Amino acid sequence: MFNYVTKQQILNILTKRIEDGKKTFLVTANPEIVMHANSEPEYMQVIQQADYVIADGIGIIIGSKIIGQPLPERVPGFELMQELLKKGNEAHWSAYFLGAKKEVVEKAVEMVRRQHPNLVIAGYHDGFFDWEANTIQEEIQRTKPDMVFVALGLPRQENFIVKNLTKFDKGLFIGVGGSFDVIAGTVKRAPVIWQKLNLEWFYRLIKQPSRWRRMLVLPQFLIRMLKIKQKG
Ligand code: UDP
Repeated sequence: MFNYVTKQQILNILTKRIEDGKKTFLVTANPEIVMHANSEPEYMQVIQQADYVIADGIGIIIGSKIIGQPLPERVPGFELMQELLKKGNEAHWSAYFLGAKKEVVEKAVEMVRRQHPNLVIAGYHDGFFDWEANTIQEEIQRTKPDMVFVALGLPRQENFIVKNLTKFDKGLFIGVGGSFDVIAGTVKRAPVIWQKLNLEWFYRLIKQPSRWRRMLVLPQFLIRMLKIKQKG
């Protein structure tokens, strides 16, 4: 399921694909996505349509070691997005931003504009829209962005991408979870030291205790990996 790539390698691959005008669907998968895909066959089918699945989160790296297929490093979706924006600024690519609350996406786009003035903003839309009646697809079809960042949370973001992918000719489509909230400053990432110690998940738990239930998925995921190992 996972591509064995470092952050730099996937960045090089995506750069080449964007420059060649290819269409790409990339999933940055954390244990939550993996567990959801395992329990929901429909979501699994959606994930299986991805061109690339990369390891977001330390849980996946630990899990890959447990089953004896170690992945090279974690590639946080947020960092990948930052690198892509940087690259897009240098190369004058265009980007579309879909997701989060209206004021959050507006603020995030404003921040991106400030930090990456040469990146072309193809457009943006908040993440609370009518799935059956909206003009988002038309806008993306018309503006043909090089990158489309979809911040709807899981499973919505991947579902949205797959539902519409055939309508688009080119572009990188990537689900980026709560990244717009981080860019807009409504949610803070863990201090670097926590990130280095692979404790970002713990920081999030302290900051948003309501997430504890969702975090139970981590030990469940690791137990599953251990079971797979025992079987194998
Ligand atoms: N979100 C959205 N539309 C929805 C539900 C959520 O745009 O119908 C946004 C939400 O505002 C947030 C992002 O999706 O910016 C991620 O939400 P969540 O924290 O639930 O997901 P995760 O970060 O865990 O993927």
